[in-house]
Amino acid sequence: MPKNINRRDFIGITGSTLSLSIASNDNFISPTTKPNTSSELISNILNLIEKTPFVDTHEHLPPENDRIANKENPEKTPAPDFGTLFSHYADSDLKVSGLTNEDYKKLISWDLSPKDKWKIIAPIYERCRNTGYLLCVRESIRALFGEDDITKNNCETISQKLKNQIGPGFYRKILREIANIDYAQVNCLQSGTFRESEPASDLICFDISTVGIASSISKIANLNKFSEKSIKSLKQAHETIEHIFERFGPKAIAVKDQSAYGRRLLYENVKNEDIETIFKQFIQKPSLLKPEELKAIQDHLFRKCIECATEYKLPIKLHTGYYAGYNNMPLSRVRDNLCDLIPLIKDFPNTTFVLMHISYPYQHELIALCKQYQNVYADMCWSWIIDPASTTRFLKEFLTTAPAHKIFTFGGDYIPVELVPGHARIARRGIALALSQLLQDNWITESEAPALIQRIMNRNAHEIFDLPRVLKAYSHGT
Ligand SMILES: [Zn+2]
Repeated sequence: MPKNINRRDFIGITGSTLSLSIASNDNFISPTTKPNTSSELISNILNLIEKTPFVDTHEHLPPENDRIANKENPEKTPAPDFGTLFSHYADSDLKVSGLTNEDYKKLISWDLSPKDKWKIIAPIYERCRNTGYLLCVRESIRALFGEDDITKNNCETISQKLKNQIGPGFYRKILREIANIDYAQVNCLQSGTFRESEPASDLICFDISTVGIASSISKIANLNKFSEKSIKSLKQAHETIEHIFERFGPKAIAVKDQSAYGRRLLYENVKNEDIETIFKQFIQKPSLLKPEELKAIQDHLFRKCIECATEYKLPIKLHTGYYAGYNNMPLSRVRDNLCDLIPLIKDFPNTTFVLMHISYPYQHELIALCKQYQNVYADMCWSWIIDPASTTRFLKEFLTTAPAHKIFTFGGDYIPVELVPGHARIARRGIALALSQLLQDNWITESEAPALIQRIMNRNAHEIFDLPRVLKAYSHGT
């Protein structure tokens, strides 16, 4: 029988200093929306969760200096106004709901006033305001500017405030102070293999990307950039990959690869002798290779990267599941992502594989893999805004099925830093709902809750990703 957790019981485990009101979340979880779950219990848990910092395992933030430099640069979009808040993920739901590409360009341009931009998106926003992507916009303006929604009356003020806050230190303020994030792992889409324009810090560190040099390599020039002389043989390609890891491995927090957007994740065990001849062809004229020959080269080089990453103790983060964007997702390929990965998982038992985005909508298969394989971990980055309700259920199901040390519960996955606080609020709400339901249904006990919260919000990430090692590499000038 479900046991009611009363106020005194929960204060007993969480400490007497906790306030029983939903302090900063402004009735974000109202008792009326969850009639079966005690609102007091949720608010106690939410309070503890709000005080617990996330390690943010996945963002696409550009360098803060670029954002500052582009603040007055009409060549760069999105313009620093409220359109920025609709420029990532929300734009996909708006376009699926009828926003034309032409109108989208106006929304992020420097040419229109906020009021004129509002006229364009208001009717479309109304169609899709229910989704996680758009909820995240509202939660972000709540966290940043104290506004509940964007309307024709406040779109100018929000735009002004958004622009004014762009300045030195605004990433730290938004991530640390507003979103209560300890530090964020960044995979910068413009930086190629590794971001060298700035050092990692206690706030932001970087992934190595293996897309261009291995898993989706299309021409040798991508590897030649890292080689003293142009590559003529497979052996030289191997040495170049080793060199890349020697150079960036100590400074990187992980390897990130999103080749799932362009190919299957079946990386076969292709031997040197199987591809020596076609590799020469690849160097001379890659366009003459058959698709399966190019795939064999990519498979081979990606496995080489995994060997190197393992040597440097770098977890391999892989995009799995749902695609960003709209009107382009080969669902049968996405459906096979996890099945395709099993040979890699088995062939590299000492490598940590972090499978991102809960492989949505195939999250049950991910729970099964995490339960079955020692070296597979689940990352909930992005998933809270793709499908908040399913993601809450996923967390409940994961925690009663797979070991709790195998999950990372937050990554905003955003380019504009302004949208990270909203995503963090949604994630905290989801974690609070999942845990309070588990408590109320007696799947976990009160005494287990605080340590579990700590573990899934930051301890797991501290155990698997070695930020002190990264910071040491920079301080030694490696
Ligand atoms: Zn991403």
